Amino acid sequence: MDIIVKNLTKFYGQQKAVDNLSFEVKAGEILGFLGPNGAGKTTTMKAIAGFLTPTSGSINIGRYNVSDNPEMVKQMIGYLPEHNPLYTDMNVIDYLRYMAQLQRIRASKINDRILEMVNVCGFEGEKHKRISELSKGYRQRVGLAQALIHDPQVLILDEPTTGLDPNQIVEIRELIRKIGREKTIILSSHILAEVEATCDRILIINKGHIVADGTADQLRKASSGCECLRITVEDANRNDVVRALQSLDTVELVDTVADKADSFEVQSRPGESSRRAVFRACVENGWVLTELSPVETKLEDIFRELTKQ
Ligand code: ATP
Repeated sequence: MDIIVKNLTKFYGQQKAVDNLSFEVKAGEILGFLGPNGAGKTTTMKAIAGFLTPTSGSINIGRYNVSDNPEMVKQMIGYLPEHNPLYTDMNVIDYLRYMAQLQRIRASKINDRILEMVNVCGFEGEKHKRISELSKGYRQRVGLAQALIHDPQVLILDEPTTGLDPNQIVEIRELIRKIGREKTIILSSHILAEVEATCDRILIINKGHIVADGTADQLRKASSGCECLRITVEDANRNDVVRALQSLDTVELVDTVADKADSFEVQSRPGESSRRAVFRACVENGWVLTELSPVETKLEDIFRELTKQ
């Protein structure tokens, strides 16, 4: 089910938290929502989940407008809020039963749904514990289970892995990918590697505006502009190599690489590629070219560049 956000704006008093945001998420897509603290991620997610009324703009889940059909939309959405509010005095099964009842799942189906959630979210050994006794990772799984209990088509997950240890992060990430095969998911995170590993597409927002939208590869291409190559040449004099590379028509800049006497970074002129010329130069000089690979801009650098003001 598609999510369509059009011209979404939200003011809290005088403060503009979200400024005219428009984007779409296609059915079956996992969208990663990135942005610095206070960028407007939570506000946008709350508005999509129908937990907050926008100042202006519209949000559609499939053909249903969120403001006009709040009940209907809440049935179609599973929402895991940022701080994962749970009734910690309840035990896991009772809590999920209560959530299933609130979602108006038929009484005859509730036990099956709970069992399925225990399986899918992986807390068989913990299911009879009180929520207050669970570790943070298992609480997060219970939060995911409540978001999924009514089998929604759309999942909104606000920082689902915050505070988890690296093993739990990997497990929750795999779980989200598994669930994501069948659902439309928006998830926010501050962990860039996680967003890259989990999401099909990345949306970066800053101060309520979209500053980038695309796959990790597309963002890298858009940000770097010029080709940058890592080259390793053996059996050659370092200065000769730098001189030869610098003399190539397509090359803008040659840099040596610290601690690697045989390696160089070559930046091409805008719109040019230097791969063939580098290869030819090595052949002509009898040097052994053992590496020629693109240097990828790190997602962290792109994020910092786009959100620094
Ligand atoms: P974080 O990564 O820190 O969770 P975020 O991108 O989710 O940040 P939001 O929580 O959406 O950002 O906040 C956007 C802006 O709106 C911030 O400046 C925040 O202080 C403000 N804000 C959020 N909720 C409220 C509120 N209930 N009342 C007043 N201002 C708010």
